[in-house]
Amino acid sequence: MPPLTEAAQSLLNIMLSSEQEAAFDVYASELEAWNAHTNLTAITAPDDVRVRHFLDSLTLLAAAPLPPGAHIIDVGTGAGFPGLPLAIARPDLRVTLVEATGKKLAFCQHVAELLQLKGVSFVHARAEEAGHMPGLRESGDLVAARAVARLPALLEYLLPLARIGGLALAMKGQTAAAEAKDSARALKLLGGKLREVREFALPGLEEPHYLVVVEKTAPTPAGFARRPGQPVQKPL
Ligand code: SAH
Repeated sequence: MPPLTEAAQSLLNIMLSSEQEAAFDVYASELEAWNAHTNLTAITAPDDVRVRHFLDSLTLLAAAPLPPGAHIIDVGTGAGFPGLPLAIARPDLRVTLVEATGKKLAFCQHVAELLQLKGVSFVHARAEEAGHMPGLRESGDLVAARAVARLPALLEYLLPLARIGGLALAMKGQTAAAEAKDSARALKLLGGKLREVREFALPGLEEPHYLVVVEKTAPTPAGFARRPGQPVQKPL
């Protein structure tokens, strides 16, 4: 069995077909090719891409079981993480990629076209603006981000986009618990409740990864997100 398929199955109980495995290979080689001229990621060695980008992204599916057709919003997707691996593994999902940097979103668009990922859409905007867009606000069943901002600020990006009863999910490293602790006020103001901080050990990596899972329990007041820059400069 190819390495990604095997790891996805043993670690996450996710079955990938040979077509999906091939799609991940195409994604990895496009990432490497584009990275030669566009600054997309520091990680391009094939084994690293498989574990740190693909498998790491797929952990979301183990933490948050999603019904067919669920809407995922990936905020600050960069070169497509975690959104594009989710779209490859679960073609039934609707995946919206939000990214402020045009050339990164252009790469995501290129990969989605190449792999004919039909359920993916692209929003070239800052998260603070996307959160006020009609049709996008409070529409996500799962709103996720990796490596975008500290949790108190990040929640102001994510929670306006989540529907009530939906989830906001932050992919974090060792600081997960401390960031969650610092987020009590943001959670209260934005309408979220901490559900769990879940640990994942990925093969070959010393440091565990964490998923901070927040449930949206009440509407986010209309004033949030504040204007661009405010969430990071003056976290709640
Ligand atoms: N999620 C990807 C990229 C992380 S780098 C990964 O884990 O590999 C952070 C990305 O978030 C960058 O591409 C940056 O342009 C984007 N970003 C940061 N703040 C943002 C904001 N307020 N709105 C939209 N995108 C943002």
